[in-house]
Amino acid sequence: MADSTVISNTANLLKYTTLDQKDKLLAEYIWIDGCNGVRSKTKTLSKVPSSPDDLPEWNFDGSSTGQAPGDNSDVYLRPCAIFPDPFRGAPNILVLAECWDSDGSPNKFNHRHECARLMEAHKEQKPWFGLEQEYTLFDQYDKPYGWPKGGFPGPQGPYYCGVGTGKVYCRDVVEAHYKACVYAGVNISGINAEVLPAQWEFQVGPCEGIELGDHLWLARYLLERVAEEFGVKISFHPKPIPGDWNGAGLHTNFSSEDMRNPGGMKYIEAAIKKLEKRHKEHIAVYGDDNTMRLTGKHETGNIDEFTWGVANRGASIRIPRSVGREGYGYFEDRRPASNADPYQITGIMIETIYGAVGS
Ligand code: ADP
Ligand code: MN
Ligand code: MN
Ligand code: MN
Ligand code: MN
Repeated sequence: MADSTVISNTANLLKYTTLDQKDKLLAEYIWIDGCNGVRSKTKTLSKVPSSPDDLPEWNFDGSSTGQAPGDNSDVYLRPCAIFPDPFRGAPNILVLAECWDSDGSPNKFNHRHECARLMEAHKEQKPWFGLEQEYTLFDQYDKPYGWPKGGFPGPQGPYYCGVGTGKVYCRDVVEAHYKACVYAGVNISGINAEVLPAQWEFQVGPCEGIELGDHLWLARYLLERVAEEFGVKISFHPKPIPGDWNGAGLHTNFSSEDMRNPGGMKYIEAAIKKLEKRHKEHIAVYGDDNTMRLTGKHETGNIDEFTWGVANRGASIRIPRSVGREGYGYFEDRRPASNADPYQITGIMIETIYGAVGS
């Protein structure tokens, strides 16, 4: 395990975690900052909320999170989703919150608001999303976790879904995160070790509408928190290690109700034609540094071209083999990078396929 100096003193902490809370509960307010990460702080409550509307609005200093200028720094937190807290246990809760500026407009980094409007406008489509979040683990010295000192592991091959010493790294963090997600009620559908040693993936979904972004951001928060206890760093960079090593993506699987029914392929093909026309607009919100990843190598398409095909992992859009055979189901947009905002990805997909909403 990483240097034990960064690991908190669990035995001492346990004496306090089990103390009676009286009639209080602790609510961890979580928000997305201006640096593509999450922040959180805790509020003591006296009453268990039955919905986000029961929770008080709160605020924070946005000049300390890259979200507001120093001379007008208050940013407001509006609760939008509640989850059981796997760290403090019941009755404590995690609260996902949207960021709003003092003039009543959504904060620049609040992409949830616009996404929710699009999902609401097109909810009769029953849009389902399943996202595959890839990420890479680093030790506290910023070396890929478990890589040999001063060198490289053997070439890619044994690591994808690997089992056994030297073929898989950091299963403890990954396993703890998986259980934390299930406890919190995140719709996590699976995990697997990736092609690059010390890289893993978890899948969230299928979730309908805005729920995908909420659950994926909460899963990211849980991952950072769990890894903190192990002294491990999480990287969402799409090309964490230069050279002949796989990058990290956020493959986005999508279907509408029409696509899921027999004969759905014609709706899938119509959607792909619309996606083709807005390739550049999509790439613009599909994550930073994605040019380093979408090279046409390492199971990716080229960033400047839009391509699609059945079972083709070198294309922008892949139709799974079984969907091609049955003629209905879903498709996979392989372009998004691991550091993209799921609200922006799912929002622009709905906008492109079903149309923008007026202000
Ligand atoms: P891959 O073969 O690309 O690695 P994964 O099994 O990792 O695929 O992920 C597939 C994702 O597709 C899962 O998150 C799953 O929830 C999602 N998915 C499955 N069916 C649908 C559907 N009809 N609509 C949207 N997403 C779906
Ligand atoms: Mn203070
Ligand atoms: Mn996958
Ligand atoms: Mn993968
Ligand atoms: Mn995939």
